[in-house]
Amino acid sequence: MDWLEILQECSQKMRKAALRYYGCPKAAVSFGIGAGGDKSKRIDLAAEKALIDCLNKHEVSCTLVSEEAGTKQIGFGSSEVYVVTDPVDGTTNAIHGLPFSANVIAVSSSSQLKDMETAIVHDIVHDIVYTAQKNGGAFKNGNLIKPSETVNIDDAVIGIDLNTLKIEELLAKLKGLLKVGKHFRHFGANAQEICYVADGSADAFIDMRGKLRVTDIVASYLILQEAGGIIVTPEGKGLDAPLEATQRLSFIAASNNKMYKAITEALSSGG
Ligand SMILES: [Mg+2]
Repeated sequence: MDWLEILQECSQKMRKAALRYYGCPKAAVSFGIGAGGDKSKRIDLAAEKALIDCLNKHEVSCTLVSEEAGTKQIGFGSSEVYVVTDPVDGTTNAIHGLPFSANVIAVSSSSQLKDMETAIVHDIVHDIVYTAQKNGGAFKNGNLIKPSETVNIDDAVIGIDLNTLKIEELLAKLKGLLKVGKHFRHFGANAQEICYVADGSADAFIDMRGKLRVTDIVASYLILQEAGGIIVTPEGKGLDAPLEATQRLSFIAASNNKMYKAITEALSSGG
């Protein structure tokens, strides 16, 4: 089965479904709390439905893990394949019409993040498709991508997610880096922002809040590593987690080893 081909068709359909509501007040109507713990908005559910319809059309058997629907079986056969999705990453941007959001889908051969095999992040507004297959490199609209060779914090564009109720705790962890960095960014769509590291547009992305869902990170995790970048826990260990909508993570994503070292040195110098 060519999962990449199926995911590409699915993400086109999810994108179309999301665009119907993009920037429109109707997008924000909520339908209760999704499996990931946030309110499911109409735009999220429309993209999720487009994915489920597309998987059913292809008669695949898999366990679907979605930020909205949680874990559910698709098809009738028994299958070890996990399809994990954040139907819309950056829902707040999508509701507000801000051009940073993506459809996220990834396929794993087990119930763990580390066994991710095929991934797609589809930038909804710009119609840019990031893809990766294990040991097959990473691509942006079909062209091979690689991260930047930037090694100095001074020159680095560094994404940081600061959205947390525990801001003092987080600022204490980040202080050393915040003192020395010069170009901090956050666009509000973490899956997309890790792809910016993969294609060399940004040099790092850091989320140390301990609240990013595994469903947000599944596809970018493979895309960045296949591009040649680094994504690890704040302690420098390999990232892994069970594929469940409630699983949450912290991580450092960096373009190269020297950039990763420069960031961890800055972080440990300032706390
Ligand atoms: Mg979402």
